[in-house]
Amino acid sequence: MGGNDLKTGDASYIKQLNRKILIKEIIKNVSLSRSDLARITGLNKATVSAQVHDFLKEQIVVEEYDSESVNRGRRPIKLEINGQAGYSIGIDINTTAIFVLFMNLKGETIDTKKIHLKHDDLNQVITQLIQELTPMVKSFNQQFHPLGLIGMSVGIHGIVNNKEEIIFTPNQKWSNITIKEELENAFNTSVYVDNNANLSVFAEQVFDEHISDLFCITLYAGIGLGIINENRIYRGYQGFAGEIGHMVVETHGKQCPCGNKGCWELYASERALMDALQNNNPPISLQDAINKHSTDHLDVMDNYFEYLAAGLNNVINIFNPEKVILNGSIINGNSPFIMDITKRLKSKMNNYREIRASKLGEYSCVLGGAALVIKNFFDIDTIDFTAHDNLIAFKHDI
Ligand SMILES: [Zn+2]
Repeated sequence: MGGNDLKTGDASYIKQLNRKILIKEIIKNVSLSRSDLARITGLNKATVSAQVHDFLKEQIVVEEYDSESVNRGRRPIKLEINGQAGYSIGIDINTTAIFVLFMNLKGETIDTKKIHLKHDDLNQVITQLIQELTPMVKSFNQQFHPLGLIGMSVGIHGIVNNKEEIIFTPNQKWSNITIKEELENAFNTSVYVDNNANLSVFAEQVFDEHISDLFCITLYAGIGLGIINENRIYRGYQGFAGEIGHMVVETHGKQCPCGNKGCWELYASERALMDALQNNNPPISLQDAINKHSTDHLDVMDNYFEYLAAGLNNVINIFNPEKVILNGSIINGNSPFIMDITKRLKSKMNNYREIRASKLGEYSCVLGGAALVIKNFFDIDTIDFTAHDNLIAFKHDI
């Protein structure tokens, strides 16, 4: 017995594989017994027990007694991810501020922070970020044992290539900069850099809608599209996929910082709507516009929805998506707007199952980023926190 490298290799490979399957199920099911685990995964009880023994030793899983069945004599022991074992950080570098979210290993938000940007230059922004985060990381490292900080993700409102380099951001004009190594060195942890729409669609899949194909369109200062295709973020040839805000909708339209004219986000982003309302004669506040539009059609709103629907029509016709989640501060709170937009999709070629507003809102990028770290830490292919009550936990202001 033993001594055969191939067999030893196979055994350790299978052990790793089983480990991932079990971790994935413990996360997904929130709390379950060893026999539940064996039944769900199809692994035998001895394998499950041996693995759980390791998880307990590593302190990534804790045992809880099931209080509901106390009266029936034997109390089944439930297994849960140990939230206190470690934490991750999601960071969203926006135009005027940085949103930061701290998440424990169970996907629960433990703290949030908003940092107002003092600089335009990205290197100075990163220096400021490191300065502000260092004391918080030090303090959390003492509270979360034994892992401490397991990694951080940074969402960028622009193009990030497959090597996690920032290629171009239309607002601040950051180009060809890497921030990954500097952050890795500062915090001695893994750092992932990605486009904000990619992290947003990932958050939707992890916390709200765990399906294998999902589209999310973010409509804030710009417009971004995140695509999950067969459980993977679709990135295209070099990582530039989803720059849907720069789809041309007016060939002789407004000049865009990207170099083209008439890009969709110049007409259909929420910033574009705010500009249109301000330039209206007389200027009109957003709340007035929302109120008036629901009773009587308002030209400026009509015009906005017309452009929004036109771009959405193009996205739907290219991809035939199952589900499109729209994420913008105006859309999220106003479900009649979704009906207004869908009514404008008149093409017989339009086919999709549902278009709806995001429940995660502005937090989607940081939630997705922090969850991505946990997924990568456990090295699992998908992570499903939808059965947890996490959505309630972060509903306080960043
Ligand atoms: Zn453009």
